[in-house]
Amino acid sequence: MKYQRSSALFKEAEKVIPGGVNSPVRAFKAVGGTPIFVESAKGAYLYDADGNVFLDYINSWGPMILGHAYEPVVTAVIDKAKNGTSFGMPTEIETKIAELAIQMAPNINKIRFVNSGTEACMSAVRLARGVTGKDKIIKFAGCYHGHSDSFLIQAGSGAITFGSPNSPGVTKGTAKDTLLATYNDLNNVEELLLANKNEIACIIIEPVAGNMGCIPPKNGFLEGLRNLCDIHNVLLIFDEVMTGFRLARGGAQELFGIQADIVCYGKVIGGGLPVGAFAAREEIMNYLAPIGPVYQAGTLSGNPLAMAAGFAMLTELNNNPSIFTSLKEKTAYLHKGLSEVFQKNQIVHTINRIGSMMSVHFSEEKVIDFASSVKGNNETFKRFFHGMLNEGVYIAPSAFETWFITDALTYTDLDKTIAACDTVAKSL
Ligand SMILES: *Cc1c(COP(=O)(O)O)cnc(C)c1O
Repeated sequence: MKYQRSSALFKEAEKVIPGGVNSPVRAFKAVGGTPIFVESAKGAYLYDADGNVFLDYINSWGPMILGHAYEPVVTAVIDKAKNGTSFGMPTEIETKIAELAIQMAPNINKIRFVNSGTEACMSAVRLARGVTGKDKIIKFAGCYHGHSDSFLIQAGSGAITFGSPNSPGVTKGTAKDTLLATYNDLNNVEELLLANKNEIACIIIEPVAGNMGCIPPKNGFLEGLRNLCDIHNVLLIFDEVMTGFRLARGGAQELFGIQADIVCYGKVIGGGLPVGAFAAREEIMNYLAPIGPVYQAGTLSGNPLAMAAGFAMLTELNNNPSIFTSLKEKTAYLHKGLSEVFQKNQIVHTINRIGSMMSVHFSEEKVIDFASSVKGNNETFKRFFHGMLNEGVYIAPSAFETWFITDALTYTDLDKTIAACDTVAKSL
């Protein structure tokens, strides 16, 4: 494949945008080469500036769960735009999406919309601190909760890819209030709680980790966390920015039957527009301004175009719950196909999967936490990434990201992907 026009566009971009991208993981820094500039996308396919076509396994890092340019979402946005794009005043569509989200997800009855997953997590933690009157938080190494200061301590996603899990610019004062635990290790969490009695406001976790590859929780891990939170009077925050409205209608809370105290959303809930949200029971949400003392705001929060896109997306998912089964079956099919191809070609690998999330690790060991995730062979991953790209399959340009399966993929597309992997595996 040729990438001449993408390369030229990237050179221009680099002159005026740091690294040529507005979010680090978009750069191909971890795998080498220059990023592909997209012209358009439809369903499961991406079309780039050079006229190349790719099957897309990133899907805007999650939101496009039903494929690109999904008709009901596109129509909703166009219709809304004709009536004005922002007012900074309440609109009915905000209540409609709030009602729907609350109906779909368990255990929440108030929700506030923001503009990104970062904002959702940042606000959720402020709320937890405001409610409990305590300062410290526990997060897990390799989990990513957006780029706000408190979370850039052993963070996942691009922070691992670029070797800066602890970012300069985060003050020591902020960092000391974030305690680090090991994913899937309850004893470790309990030790932290005991060593910091009456100081911890909340534990924030990705109920399925998706930013160090895809790492499902071990049996009993989330239940154990729920128990520890109850015993120690600590709020449990589920960061469902990735898993919400993806793993089930009601996200990970529904899938695992565990109730969190505060839940963060993003990605799917915006249907591809910039949306985040955080939600909880009324007793907690009523701490927020203007009725409570915890301040949180946004000029473009609840933007009508974004709400229309999100409402159209959630409506589709709510009306067709078989989508979640279909996604799960497609992902399982892909997993099986890729495993067989790797085995046949004697490539050491581990594939993690749950619902429509999966990740391929070039590692013999099980991948269950941050330490085991970083043990994968990055050189093999680089060759795999470029090989797949050359075969017309776009996966994340980093070994620490999840593959996001879209329901727009057909079994023919999946077979094409498995065949591409067979070709690539021969030269790994
Ligand atoms: C993507 C992501 C975020 C950050 O969301 P942005 O919209 O990129 O700010 C937070 N938490 C998790 C689990 C995510 O996957």
